[in-house]
Amino acid sequence: MGKLPDHADLVIVGGGPAGLAAAIEARKAGLSVAVLEREPTAGGIPRHCNHPPYGVREFGRLMKGPTYARRLVAEAAAAGADIRTGVTVLALHSGPRLTVTDNCGARDITARRVLLATGVRETSRAGRLLGGTKPGGILNTGALQGLVTLDGLVPFQRPVILGTELVSFSAILTLRHAGVRPVAMLEPASTPTARWPSAMLPRLLRIPLHLGTDIVAIEGEQRVTGVRVRGPGGERTIPADGVVLTGRFRPETALMKPSHLALDAGSGGPVVDQYGRCSDPDYFAAGNVLRPVETAGWSFREGAAAGRAVAADLAGDLPAAAPFLTIAAGEGIKLAVPQRIAPGARGGALQVRVDRPLRGRLVLSLAGKAVASQRIDTRPERRLSVPLSAIPQGATGTATLTVEEAA
Ligand SMILES: Cc1cc2nc3c(=O)[nH]c(=O)nc-3n(C[C@H](O)[C@H](O)[C@H](O)COP(=O)(O)OP(=O)(O)OC[C@H]3O[C@@H](n4cnc5c(N)ncnc54)[C@H](O)[C@@H]3O)c2cc1C
Repeated sequence: MGKLPDHADLVIVGGGPAGLAAAIEARKAGLSVAVLEREPTAGGIPRHCNHPPYGVREFGRLMKGPTYARRLVAEAAAAGADIRTGVTVLALHSGPRLTVTDNCGARDITARRVLLATGVRETSRAGRLLGGTKPGGILNTGALQGLVTLDGLVPFQRPVILGTELVSFSAILTLRHAGVRPVAMLEPASTPTARWPSAMLPRLLRIPLHLGTDIVAIEGEQRVTGVRVRGPGGERTIPADGVVLTGRFRPETALMKPSHLALDAGSGGPVVDQYGRCSDPDYFAAGNVLRPVETAGWSFREGAAAGRAVAADLAGDLPAAAPFLTIAAGEGIKLAVPQRIAPGARGGALQVRVDRPLRGRLVLSLAGKAVASQRIDTRPERRLSVPLSAIPQGATGTATLTVEEAA
């Protein structure tokens, strides 16, 4: 492929569902679009997930991840997006300007707008502070899927899976595809994180699910030989030859942390308004970098909306980026996205997650008055939304989300 472009109307960082959907929409509006993807192939996480369900709402058919990823890339390329793989974005500057590197070395690219669509990553063993020895055979789901789906390797035969988010069940399906049956699935909380029917999968496949159970230490010298766990029955060792650490997602903000862009402590992602516009209004963000973690379809729709918002912005059709209404996460609320509301459209919703299992009413208050409220019975990582249409037009200051717990 030829030399990297020096400039594009829209440069997109990340060639997953969000970035590619944005590229398609921005091309429809006539913008020049470059998509920069560090992997050798674009498509994002679905490339690794060799199982359904993908694509039903976007393409009207049920697909496995790799098929879906190829379809997204083909559609974006057919729309005229310049998709560059093997290109890593190293730094973000105002301007907007990006420092990038590929096999020809580092250089800068300028744009009229930049869209950040870098996705999420799972928390590593180090990030989880898991004790014990340091043998081989400890993987996150993403690494497991890369080995099994992309490289055709089978890293172990009797692993333990830690976690019960949706991706934990994706790990089971990946292992099943490789002919591997996990010896146990562990969940530190008292109920699985993912909702039924996913949580039925271990029982269907006769994989023991241990609730209220966490890893105390990993055992083994060269390879994992067992996992010391603490649960309702006390401490014991489960013999195993591997560990899959699933979930505990965090937005991929390696690029944003050292940059001039504001990050939100709750979501871990960039601060955005309802158009996906960041604290530097030349930058937009969409997809799982906004918050951990949503499905591919959700990220695709967010990316498409951001692509349209960028086109509207460049056409002068987006309201000014200020004055803002700031959304504050009160007691019990882990995150709310977007974190600020600019004047203009009130379509869409605030995406909300709680920080512990909660039952009661979720209330959005403005100047001491409740403007929206809904009954909730939820757990961390589960999706909640509050319609933005509930917020009065022109409101500024701070609106606070809280939970009034049921007695
Ligand atoms: C292990 C794992 C399994 C998952 N399984 C499922 C599943 O089964 N079903 C489902 O619906 N969702 C699943 N998800 C959620 C998944 O993240 C979304 O489905 C979807 O892929 C999000 O799209 P995205 O475009 O926001 O991010 P991604 O698909 O993650 O794409 C982001 C892209 O940005 C690139 N990138 C990041 N930083 C840079 C940089 N500095 N320079 C250049 N490129 C960069 C990455 O290489 C990546 O290709 C899973 C997530 C993970 C981590």
